[in-house]
Amino acid sequence: MRIGFVGTGTMGRPMAANLLKKGHTVVGFDVVPAALEAAAKLGVERAGSAAEAAKGADLVVTMLPSSPHVEAAYLGARGVLEGVGQGRLCVDMSTIDPSVSRRVAEAARARGARFVDAPVSGGVPRAEEATLAIMVGGEARDVEEARPVLACMGANVIHVGPVGSGEVAKICNNLIAGVAAVAISEAFRIAEGFGVDPGTLTEVIAKSSGATFIMEHMHPVPGQVAKAPASRDYAPGFMTDLMAKDLGLAVSAARDLRVPVFVAPAAQQVLRLASSHGLGRKDFSVVYQFLKPSGKDAPV
Ligand code: NAD
Repeated sequence: MRIGFVGTGTMGRPMAANLLKKGHTVVGFDVVPAALEAAAKLGVERAGSAAEAAKGADLVVTMLPSSPHVEAAYLGARGVLEGVGQGRLCVDMSTIDPSVSRRVAEAARARGARFVDAPVSGGVPRAEEATLAIMVGGEARDVEEARPVLACMGANVIHVGPVGSGEVAKICNNLIAGVAAVAISEAFRIAEGFGVDPGTLTEVIAKSSGATFIMEHMHPVPGQVAKAPASRDYAPGFMTDLMAKDLGLAVSAARDLRVPVFVAPAAQQVLRLASSHGLGRKDFSVVYQFLKPSGKDAPV
């Protein structure tokens, strides 16, 4: 297939690379020339706009930071909806507000195109291995059309429900992941204060009720997991700013639904504060560095 790919950043680049490996032609666009250049080195053909990437494509994939970027890339001047062919399918894999997915789907329909939301989980290693978990919202027929393309990038493709519900599943997952990173960081800081070896604590927790995917794959303490961002100076990975955004999406959904939430807003504010102290573009597990103890002479 000829696939238009908009957003060749941290995740988009390895995902586009996997489409190329499976024999698809990928025509890419990114507003940051260096991001597009890096994808072009892998074999992605360069387009001059999102509309140009979408023009003549059998299917369009977008992988953008957040809701305003998705709105701009689809609805803005020289956006996807200006170029996409009649009846073609657009697959947005960004993590955004479910109501924005619905709005963009509506605009796509008005232009004779179709739209599904298909956010991902697993981070860069799984994007590279093509083993992402992909949660999809859309009409069954559209999801089935997208499935073979999604299978080039992920190992588990799950149809959650109508448009927007892939995003709902994703923000629920990231609520748990974001809170876990803060909780693990707090726990390891306490253990260190007592002089307990972090390697030994990791071994204990891995076999106990506190075991999580986050500790196993994205351990916040440097040197505990070789492939974790913490072991390479917190290079993302998944940026603190993006996790703060996802927790914010969960918090605002909870507000609209009148669901009481306590832990997610606390975790979001810790990440926001880490960002305001210059850590926003580091992997979110950097929250461990931010949660340093104060000096021993501070009153308790
Ligand atoms: P990123 O910022 O590295 O990449 C996004 C790319 O989109 C950038 O290169 C940016 O220049 C480009 N972009 C922004 N606006 C654009 C526009 N209008 N047109 C074309 N390109 C545009 O972010 P990422 O880490 O690749 O994340 C992308 C999405 O995937 C986010 O929604 C994020 O929450 C989600 N996600 C990321 C990870 C991860 O580990 N990084 C994991 C799961 C989900």
